Amino acid sequence: AYIDKIKANDSSINAYLHYAFETANETAKAVDQLRASGERLGALAGIPMGIKDNMSTLDMPTTCGSKMLENYHAPFDATVVKQLRASKAVILGKLNMDEFAMGSTTEHSYFKKTKNPVKLDRVPGGSSGGSAAAVASDEALYTLGSDTGGSIRQPASFCGVVGMKPTYGSISRYGLIAFASSLDQIGPFTKSVEDMALVLPSLMKKDPMDSTSLESPEFSLDQIRKRDIKGIRVALPVDFMEEGIDEEVKAAILKSAKTLESMGAIVETVSLKSLKHALPAYYIISSAEASSNLARFDGIKYGYRHPDFDSLETLYSRSRRYGFGDEVKRRILLGTYALSSGYYDAYYKKALKVKTLIMNEFEMLFQHYDVVLAPVAPTTAYGFDDCSEDALKMYLGDIYTVPVNIAGLPAISINCGFDCDGMPIGMQLIGKHFDEGMLLRVGHAYE
Ligand code: GLN
Repeated sequence: AYIDKIKANDSSINAYLHYAFETANETAKAVDQLRASGERLGALAGIPMGIKDNMSTLDMPTTCGSKMLENYHAPFDATVVKQLRASKAVILGKLNMDEFAMGSTTEHSYFKKTKNPVKLDRVPGGSSGGSAAAVASDEALYTLGSDTGGSIRQPASFCGVVGMKPTYGSISRYGLIAFASSLDQIGPFTKSVEDMALVLPSLMKKDPMDSTSLESPEFSLDQIRKRDIKGIRVALPVDFMEEGIDEEVKAAILKSAKTLESMGAIVETVSLKSLKHALPAYYIISSAEASSNLARFDGIKYGYRHPDFDSLETLYSRSRRYGFGDEVKRRILLGTYALSSGYYDAYYKKALKVKTLIMNEFEMLFQHYDVVLAPVAPTTAYGFDDCSEDALKMYLGDIYTVPVNIAGLPAISINCGFDCDGMPIGMQLIGKHFDEGMLLRVGHAYE
């Protein structure tokens, strides 16, 4: 049924970059046989899903939405892909994304623009726009995306689905093509918080192949299903509700706070002073790490090589000039500048100090609260080309999502209403490190 849906719809949505229908059908058949023989299978067995195209797969290309990797076939499966295969997940294909996960609209994919299934003239958000659109249009029951500064939560909000950025280190990044290694985190998109609670445990596993990966505590599905949030302490930072936020988004968040209160939660407004420094710190740290991570795409080891060169220098420079898109080049330039001698202390080192401030402030807050309630983005999904002339305008939309990555915290994005055009509005629940169970508990009670 999902394959039929993709065949009928995806030429207008453009969620997928590659399809894997044959293997998907084979896996589905194998699962049926195992079930018939009485085998006990896990939650993901036989469930059709899709993967963002920055996670390495042996049997499909892994393009990262870039011309640089247009013809790249990874020689191994990412750990998450291995886990999915072991769980007998039905992998339908790979999903569109902003090139190297840099962007907020999926317009920066080299290949195509994914449409927002709610309204086709709106962007789906990004960078995991394909992953969000696939779930929203029933072209997959759940998908995987990656979130470095909001790339799961913001498209989930724009398309009206659930998106989770788990704690940094909880899901292996081995085989995820790196954007900014200290911030990158894989996470799922689902239709509901309950589905999220079913998908996560198969993925949150310590992996010896990723030195930053850690063991996650188990959460109780029974506890989540009770929908009991009496006495849960919710912090609502006023700093997230000041200038720049759409009135309709603000009203929806305040209404959600009231809903949580009516269910017995204790909601209090707080102030997080360091939040205003998060966005500039994020763009310094993420671009610095990107400039280093993307140095490997030199036209020699793998990826695009410009056909016309007369020296090693021109091979490098032409391959990178023509292989990367403008947004990626902007980040590499910014990051290289921020790391260069004489500027390192002024930019990169200062950004790391801001990181410590933000982490400390969240830690203090979590001594008194169980979750933080916040908007996901200042606006709902906008039209194509609205930000294409102005990168800074696009960057400003990341203001509420980046603090979470800087602090390595888990956060879930859940629909909490619609604007006057019928576009979805997302709210964000942010939790303590490895307290995904609490986010699922509050989120499921709310939904
Ligand atoms: N929109 C942000 C950026 O462009 C976040 C991207 C991400 O999380 N991968 O950097």
